[in-house]
Order: sequence, then C-alpha cells, then structure tokens
Amino acid sequence: MIDLVYPPRCVSCRRLLNTLFCQYCIAEIIPPNDTAPILELDDHIAVGIHRGSLRHAIHALKYENLPEIANILGYLLAQVIQQKKWHFDTLIPVPLHADRQRERGYNQAIELAQVAANYLECAILPNALYRSIATTSQVGKNFYERQQNVKDAFAVAPEYVAQLHNTHVILIDDVCTTGATLGACATALRQVGVKSIYAATVSRADMQTSASVA
Ligand SMILES: [Zn+2]
Repeated sequence: MIDLVYPPRCVSCRRLLNTLFCQYCIAEIIPPNDTAPILELDDHIAVGIHRGSLRHAIHALKYENLPEIANILGYLLAQVIQQKKWHFDTLIPVPLHADRQRERGYNQAIELAQVAANYLECAILPNALYRSIATTSQVGKNFYERQQNVKDAFAVAPEYVAQLHNTHVILIDDVCTTGATLGACATALRQVGVKSIYAATVSRADMQTSASVA
C-alpha cells in the first residue's frame, strides 16, 4: 500500500516508473574500459564506469538509506559475473568497519552479495573477512595513500581459515577506485590458502579521467 502512496522514483532520472533504478538509466550505464589489472587479483569485473546514472545509484545505496536498490544492482552484478564464467565457490563481501556499519545500518557490499548469490545460486560468507584495524575514509586519497591506508586492514576470521583453504572466491564491493581495498582483502585471503580470488564491483573509477570516487 505504501507504494501506492509513494510510488518510487528512479534515483537517477527521478521519473515515476515504479522502480528505484529504471531501465532507461540502466541502458545508459557505460561499460568499463580497459583498466590496469589489480595485481593481487586473478581477475576483476565491474558493471560499469563510476559515472552518470550508475554513480547516482551507488550514491543512493550508500548515502541515501536505500538498501533496496541493491536488489537491482545485485542483479546487474550477477549478470556480469555469469559472463565471466569463473569457477568459484563463494561470494565474500568486503567488510565495513563496525562503526561505519552501525552508522549506516547496513553494509552495502553484503546487500549486493546477497542478491547476487540468490541469482547465482551460490553461498555467501559475510563474516569471513573482518577489518582488523579502523581505517580512515579512502575518499580524497591518492593511489599510494590508499594502499598504505588499507594495508593489513583486513584479516580472515579464525573460524573460516580451514573452510577457505583451496577454494575459489569472488570479492564483492560497490565501488573499485584504485583497487587498494580489494588488493588488501585478497592478500588476507591468499595468506590462508585461497586459490583463486576474483572481484566483482558495481562500478569502477574511470581511470582516463582518474576522477576521485566519493
Ligand atoms: Zn531512471
């Protein structure tokens, strides 16, 4: 009934099409261009470049208290994962620091991973990784500063160490800017014997304009 009183507007074009992210805005997503590989990862895919409608959708997911938009973005993520034909066992969302998660009320990477896992019919391990130290925001930092900021920031929870040995996993996050966060997660997973580490993010920074992702 609430939907009849407040039919959802598209977060990007604001049209009343009864969806938070409409088909016209999805059609406008710019596919990722050739970007530098992230050394710690076996492969990485993104739904699109962090611009235009996709940037609006991610902003809504992170800062406008609209976790429901993960239903659409998680589906788009599942689609690009399927195209990759990776052999994998589980999805592992990039953890948020506990304080940040409390503030926001949810971890957007977990929301995305849950939706994608439903479509892909695979398991998700939302507690396998945790932030071992509190890091400051990556926003406004350059590549080197970002790397230093998240270095050693992640660890595998002890109860998952045996389970993850020799497995193939896909890291899930909303945005990939320089790849420093994904790289730090991959390093922690590699240390416990994870065999293949892929990453799928909704957006990837446009390296050609090297715009900072907020
Ligand atoms: Zn729209």
